[in-house]
Amino acid sequence: MRVIVQRKLSGHLFGIFLCLVGFGILFVVLWKAWPSVSSSSNVLSSLWSYILTEQTDLALIGTLKLVYLSIIGGIFLFLGIFVLAFSRQILYLSGGPILLQCPYCNNHWKARRAMGWAECPHCRKFIHPQVMKTGK
Ligand SMILES: [Zn+2]
Repeated sequence: MRVIVQRKLSGHLFGIFLCLVGFGILFVVLWKAWPSVSSSSNVLSSLWSYILTEQTDLALIGTLKLVYLSIIGGIFLFLGIFVLAFSRQILYLSGGPILLQCPYCNNHWKARRAMGWAECPHCRKFIHPQVMKTGK
């Protein structure tokens, strides 16, 4: 149990780390582009053309086009969100019995795990149950 909790926590931290790296990279791109595009009347389109054409010097990698840098930043951000969502799924799975609520009849019932879709045992509707609490 402790191993699962630890893995879940490190996965969560890893997801946050990836998000921060992604945000950081995108912020650097914006930071570099801002002095050249902020005076323009259409900031978004000139920002876009600036990112597509300009390149930046990175001490470790060499020159890199800003568009690649923003793509890398976006990938990091998406990976981070994915890992975060995934580690939340494990959080539901690793707990004890959980309490689900039907959004139609508001009745509660216990289940082994959170379900995306389930048949309500009270009103027999096929619903998306809400998690009331996880048994810990
Ligand atoms: Zn119901």
